This record gives sequence, C-alpha cells and structure tokens, in this order.
Amino acid sequence: MSLVISHLARRFGPTPVLRGIDLAVEQRELIALLGPSGSGKTTLLRIIAGLDWPDAGGLSFDGDDWLARSAGERRIGLVFQHYALFPHMTVRDNIAFGLSVRPRGNRPDRAGIADRVGRLLRFLQIEGLADRYPAELSGGQRQRVALGRAMAIEPRVLLLDEPFGALDAQVRRDLRRWLRGVHDSTGTTTIFVTHDQEEAFELADRVVVMNAGMIEQAGRPDEIYDHPATPFVARFLGLTV
Ligand code: ADP
Repeated sequence: MSLVISHLARRFGPTPVLRGIDLAVEQRELIALLGPSGSGKTTLLRIIAGLDWPDAGGLSFDGDDWLARSAGERRIGLVFQHYALFPHMTVRDNIAFGLSVRPRGNRPDRAGIADRVGRLLRFLQIEGLADRYPAELSGGQRQRVALGRAMAIEPRVLLLDEPFGALDAQVRRDLRRWLRGVHDSTGTTTIFVTHDQEEAFELADRVVVMNAGMIEQAGRPDEIYDHPATPFVARFLGLTV
C-alpha cells in the first residue's frame, strides 16, 4: 500500500465533516472519490495534500508519517476545477514553473528543465500549444496543461478535484480517456474527486462512495454496481436493493 488513511476525522466548529475515514490506496491505483456535494471529498483531498490538517487519525505514504511532513515534502500534484494557470506565462513556462521552484539540490538546471518540459509536452500530446498563453486555449486544453504542471514535479500522488467539472460532455469524455492513458503510462497514484457517477465508474480502478463524512462503500465499479453495500449507495447510483 502506498497511501494509508486511518480513522481520519475533521470538524469545522461543531460540525463533523470527516467522521473516521479508513482507506488504503495502492501504488498506480486510480481512485475516484464519489459523493454528493458536502460529503467531505474536498476536505479529504486537502488533508492528503497538506493544505489542511485532521483533528484525529493518521496519514502515511510508504510508511512515512505524512502528518509530520509539509505539503512540499509530500510532493503532491494538484489539479482543481479552476486551477488558474499563470496568465502571463506560456504553456511551456507554466509547466516549467513547478520545477524551477523546487528546493536547491533537487532542482534541475535550465537545460534539464527544458528537456523535462519538452518530454512532458510530447507525452501529454500538447506540444503544439507550448508557446501559447492560457487565454488562447480552450477549457479542455487548459486542464491538460494544468495536469502537465502538476506532473512536472513527478508527484508521488496526483490529486484531481473535479478537474473536468466545468467542461462540456464531449470534452469530458475525451479528457477522461486521455487521463486514463496518461495514468497508465506513469507510476503515479491518482485520486480523482467527482460527483459525476459516469465519470467515476468509467475512469477508476476503485470507486469510493462518500456520504456525510464517511465511506459508504469502496470497491471495483462492477462490485459496487452488483452489490451496493448500503441503501444510500443504491439510491445514489439509481439502483434498487
Ligand atoms: P465536497 O467536496 O464533498 O463537496 P467538502 O469537503 O467541500 O465536501 O465540504 C464538506 C462540508 O464541510 C461542507 O458542509 C462544507 O460547508 C464544510 N466545510 C468545508 N470547508 C470548511 C471550512 N474551511 N470551514 C467551515 N466549513 C467547511
């Protein structure tokens, strides 16, 4: 197991938002966190990223206690629905940015960065966009570049929060296929937040259904469809028990 989350709890004031989350994610696994708005998906993602801290519970990666590590030390790649690219930088410079801010000693030199960015642009099939500015890109192209920027640091875990949420259905489908291909060609562990059931079931190795700060069920898409574990899961997926 690479990422292990145990009994994780978080409250904001009197309101419990995560109520004891247990989840172990394997390396190279693509997990979809699926659940209605307000179920705690983003809070869980922010805690994994080191942008927020739990009140109780544990979080470790390959046995290393991540609650004792800063966000930077965890080496996480993040993509949000509206993860604004730097408007005054080209696609190439946006992608290079993640590398150039790495700590000294861990930072490639200029030629090394140019080489890495070139390979990433080719790998993500966005070479043709390299010299454009974000305002000259479509929404789908921007999210491809945002993923490129997140991947430039060779993240141990890639966290995506509704990355395709603002895009139309056909573009979403294309990006889903593209993301699955990108994921399969890297060793990255990916956690994808969505409230879109079709997206979760098509994309993920394992779907984690959340409700009111708890995990209702975690399993392969076919397992969940065939055997919804709770009435909530059945209702949420439009199945009958
Ligand atoms: P989801 O991503 O599933 O929509 P969130 O994790 O964003 O759910 O939110 C879960 C609950 O926590 C919501 O009721 C939200 O209002 C609340 N919440 C999230 N962040 C904060 C915060 N910083 N302060 C207070 N309440 C918050």
